[in-house]
Amino acid sequence: MPPGSLFVRLHKRYASDMSERSEDLFDVAVIGGGATGYSSALVAARHGLRTVLIAPPARFPPGRTAALLGSSVDFLRRLGVWDRMTDDAAAMVGMRIVDGTRRLLRAPEAIFHASEIGLPAFGHNIANEAIVAALAEAAEAEDGLSILPHTADDIRTGSDMVSILAGDRTIRARLVVGADGARSSARRAAGIEMREWSYPQSALVTTFKVGRPHGNVSTEFHTEHGPFTLVPMKGQRMSLIWMDRPDISTMRSELQEDAFNRRAEERAASIVGTMAVDTPRVVYPMKAATVDAYARNRVMLVGEAAHVFPPIGAQGLNLGFRDVAALDKVLRRGSDPGSDEAIAAYHRQRQIDVRTRTAAVDILNRSLLTDFISVQALRGLGLGLASRVPPLRRLLMRQGLAQRPLFRA
Ligand SMILES: Cc1cc2nc3c(=O)[nH]c(=O)nc-3n(C[C@H](O)[C@H](O)[C@H](O)COP(=O)(O)OP(=O)(O)OC[C@H]3O[C@@H](n4cnc5c(N)ncnc54)[C@H](O)[C@@H]3O)c2cc1C
Repeated sequence: MPPGSLFVRLHKRYASDMSERSEDLFDVAVIGGGATGYSSALVAARHGLRTVLIAPPARFPPGRTAALLGSSVDFLRRLGVWDRMTDDAAAMVGMRIVDGTRRLLRAPEAIFHASEIGLPAFGHNIANEAIVAALAEAAEAEDGLSILPHTADDIRTGSDMVSILAGDRTIRARLVVGADGARSSARRAAGIEMREWSYPQSALVTTFKVGRPHGNVSTEFHTEHGPFTLVPMKGQRMSLIWMDRPDISTMRSELQEDAFNRRAEERAASIVGTMAVDTPRVVYPMKAATVDAYARNRVMLVGEAAHVFPPIGAQGLNLGFRDVAALDKVLRRGSDPGSDEAIAAYHRQRQIDVRTRTAAVDILNRSLLTDFISVQALRGLGLGLASRVPPLRRLLMRQGLAQRPLFRA
């Protein structure tokens, strides 16, 4: 599908549907047309709640894919959208972790197979654009869901309603779902604080055609400046996330293609043979963020509006879909979806899962960057045990895929 074509059609249609209204009343207004926005809108509408999605046409950086773990695939199946994206999905049947540092204490290579825990795959790697296009198609067909192709402005929370300016319309809703990404206006309107921090790294992201079959195994080389991760795509292609010092990532993004291909193949120890880059290289500064509340003042936050991760361990969107699964649990047909009880229930549901995952990814990333020999030894021991002790391997694999929080309250 040409980029954006579906969105242009959808937005034209909904723009004309809603053109006579100057003000409208909804149970739920979802702000943001990324994967968490579309899925939240579908979930709310399926509770019989009158729902509007306020979403300008989405734009996707080329080469961005998301590795969706089994719990996200199950969630998308329950939403009835998984079959719409399988043509673009590559199964991940194995995960290999290689200590690619030159340090004295190196961890042994660990390889995990989904079959060890009785699963056909850990998950699937899919282009972000294909995920959102599939969700958008389902949203178009959903009764009780309107789509408004505007940016939400001037969001004001009140005791009974939230008002939102969208184009020349004032939308009023009992609950706002903020799915509007890391710079969320919904979050600001609700008075929720976000704390951000950055890492001394950037991620260079692109995709390759590779010379040998990848066998549907993703490989993560841990280096002194962060992971170099190759994830299988459909056919003989792989996506790459290469984390390193910002100046080095920028330099690599500007290399001639041939030189870049050679450096990538060297770093990958030629495990998939030759590598030929086939989408533009994009560099992302690495940062993370967490919020002081997941819901407040008739606003619930999902996805990057609530948490930002460095792309390690495929947590970001997987956690975003778990936010939407939690939203599904707290919404009830016929009751006020933005009531104090619903807001408190959503906050309770999300805080432990998100906070423990944020801490786990932070510790993992810092353990890779540290020069402390004791931390390197501990990491090496952990990976060594994980590769040799079957019950620990299975526990780690199951926990990595779990939809439950890492720890219970
Ligand atoms: C390099 C990289 C690799 C990654 N890999 C993975 C991975 O393998 N697996 C994984 O699970 N996660 C991964 N992630 C994380 C994942 O991409 C994000 O978690 C996910 O895309 C966030 O989706 P979202 O819907 O929350 O936000 P977004 O995709 O940011 O969508 C927010 C939308 O809201 C819209 N918006 C903003 N303001 C307004 C407004 N005022 N009104 C209306 N709309 C508005 C924006 O235009 C945008 O379309 C990766 C991230 C990076 C950077």
